[in-house]
Amino acid sequence: MTPPAAVIRAKRDGETLTADVVHGFVDAFVRGEVADYQMAAFLMAVVWRGMDDAETWALTDAMLKSGRVVDLSHVPGVKVDKHSTGGVGDKVSICLAPLVAAAGVPVPMISGRGLGHTGGTLDKLEAIPGFDVRLPIERYVEQVARIGCCLIGQTADLAPADRRMYALRDVTATVESIPLITASILSKKLAEGIDALVLDVKVGTGAFMETRPAARALARSLVRCGKKGGKRVVALLTSMDEPLGYAVGNANETAEAIDVLRGSGPADLVEITLALGAEMLVLGKRARNVRAARAILQARIADGSALAKLREIVLAQGGDVRCVDDPSLLPRAEVVRPVLAPRAGFVGGIDARAIGIAAMDLGAGRRRAEDVVDPAVGVVVRKKVGDRALKGEPIAVVHARSEGAAREAATAVCAAYRFVRSRVRAPKLVLERLG
Ligand code: URA
Repeated sequence: MTPPAAVIRAKRDGETLTADVVHGFVDAFVRGEVADYQMAAFLMAVVWRGMDDAETWALTDAMLKSGRVVDLSHVPGVKVDKHSTGGVGDKVSICLAPLVAAAGVPVPMISGRGLGHTGGTLDKLEAIPGFDVRLPIERYVEQVARIGCCLIGQTADLAPADRRMYALRDVTATVESIPLITASILSKKLAEGIDALVLDVKVGTGAFMETRPAARALARSLVRCGKKGGKRVVALLTSMDEPLGYAVGNANETAEAIDVLRGSGPADLVEITLALGAEMLVLGKRARNVRAARAILQARIADGSALAKLREIVLAQGGDVRCVDDPSLLPRAEVVRPVLAPRAGFVGGIDARAIGIAAMDLGAGRRRAEDVVDPAVGVVVRKKVGDRALKGEPIAVVHARSEGAAREAATAVCAAYRFVRSRVRAPKLVLERLG
């Protein structure tokens, strides 16, 4: 094995590392033979010097192989998952996974929790009383085989190198690196046992990548690296300049995702769900092109089979299935307070990040990883970009635990709105397709 200091020095000096060297370094870190401070120095060297595609794949592969790689080869069909880089109001997985599974493509989905201004699928699913996202991998494999979909959280034995490396990156200012983000995301996704992956790379004020060139660079890296791993990968760049849909929180987002499966979801949420779902159906060989795929998905919503699939998933994972038919049974906040338009005009912009932070401060999200979320609280925007508001008309509604928290959130939500005199167009949703 190349000594750790030599690996760090080589990367510090801009050299290209061989696959053997990268594997040796990550393997030694997992065994405890590379210290945390050495890994942190290596990560900083990667931030500065970057990695080419071969190195990025070697890092991904080493992180993937640091733990268990799930085998779903006995499950018939092309197994396809979706990963989003995260945003505000992004509840897509909750409607997309059952919808795509109802169309015949198995969806093994291992998701994350919310952190900072962005929410997490697991927190939203847990708003359904009893819903268990901590199933062991054996149950996950069995459920994907039996009903075509399972929605769980990361387990300790999947890509453990990523967990330890991410913890170091978080406290050493080394998160912002395209090769490191690529390896982190793909090592976890490839460990799920998928054959293909659709990526939703969000761009805008509420996204991890705020500019289009940065989002495009990440998407390209993910697509290229996924292909090196033998997977078919498609990425859509989608807008995150205002919250997706209306609801931001946990129970309220789950209810809105259920609305999509009932055929009555918000237009932007439906559009993103169909765009990503269509790519999944094409990758899953259930449709020849995205147009045909959209028609299949719309039919699965119209005939109730997508909603029925969600019922099956909720039942299989111990959740209160009555919530699927009556989302008013989901947890509800005690205080509900409208946010009134401070003046008349058209909504010219909504700072998605500010709305996400307001929801987090209400208790819907986490400032630190160990915080506990409240499923009932959040924000529901009523007016979106392009909508007209009269002075004093409700532009949003805050769901809070106390009057004080509601007042603070209402001020923050109001400040997130920008009003203009003349109508502006709603932002384009799907900006680019790569892969
Ligand atoms: N999400 C991840 O899973 N990893 C990163 O490095 C960044 C975002």
